[in-house]
Amino acid sequence: MTRNILKSFIFGVILIPFAGTLSAKEVNLYSYRQPFLINQILKHFTKQTGIKVNVVYAKKGMLERLKAEGRNTPADAVLTVDISRLSALADAGLLQSVTSAKLEENIPPQYRHPDGLWFGLTLRARVAFAHKERVKDGEIKQYTDLIKPRFKGRVCTRSGKHAYNLSLLAAVIEEMGEKGAENWARGLKANLARRPKGNDRTQVKAIKEGLCDVSLGNSYYLGNMETNEKNPEQKEWANSIRLLFPKLGGRGTHVNISGAAMTKYAKNKLNAKKLLEFLSSSVAQKMYAEQNFEYPVKPGVAWSSRVKSWGTFLPSDVNLATIAKHRLKATKIMDIVNFDG
Ligand code: FE
Repeated sequence: MTRNILKSFIFGVILIPFAGTLSAKEVNLYSYRQPFLINQILKHFTKQTGIKVNVVYAKKGMLERLKAEGRNTPADAVLTVDISRLSALADAGLLQSVTSAKLEENIPPQYRHPDGLWFGLTLRARVAFAHKERVKDGEIKQYTDLIKPRFKGRVCTRSGKHAYNLSLLAAVIEEMGEKGAENWARGLKANLARRPKGNDRTQVKAIKEGLCDVSLGNSYYLGNMETNEKNPEQKEWANSIRLLFPKLGGRGTHVNISGAAMTKYAKNKLNAKKLLEFLSSSVAQKMYAEQNFEYPVKPGVAWSSRVKSWGTFLPSDVNLATIAKHRLKATKIMDIVNFDG
């Protein structure tokens, strides 16, 4: 027990230490996703299968912990957000392939690793949050519109080095090539109203305050702001903007995933596979996507009414494995253009 608690502190924010024993009816999960997002779904899974899920919640350090634990890791599966984090785990050799007809049927190929090293479970679009009046209809149809001279001094964004912006830039690389992507990043920087700072919501606050007219943000943050009872001022921020879905050429809007994977040294492999399959099933998909105003990855699963109210869009067809491949180049470009400087 002491050891578990110690480990817990090393990992970060811990709620439930593992029982520490292996059992045929257990699966151990490391999660970057917060309890309110997944507790209900996991309960459902346990009810349906009799498999108990032990979760360690964390905000950072998953890769380092899995590396340090090596073969002795208790973790059978991981839950995390953003393709960059999933692919970093894959690149570090910390994941193993899962072959499952169910997962392949439920998850379109562009949202899972070609060899089953990771699987997307929910989708989030990286959109433009535009002031309702100051940005006119039709002004933003493409991500490239944001670098046009008319947006000079009107754009806000978080750091160019944040995973969300790096994944978007990786998608731009796939569409426009490295030179084109460099020009885009340079042009975006040239149009910034201020140096990148804060998170996606901070930018919407800045729009509300008149510091800028448009920002880049992940779609679910609009839902987080619209329904924020704890910080009701965020409802006003949300109310000052509308969500636009810029396209990347003819490809549609850049989307990212939250996802899951089986760890390389999973002991409860069968249970972990069952858990992944369950998370891709219609019932879990609906619950999971709704909790955080995301889009289900499984085609045909209904969107929540709030998400629907933001309008429909064409998600980019770029394979997320390709985005992962361009990430280093994207990081380099952000350095070259000194995006945050
Ligand atoms: Fe986020």
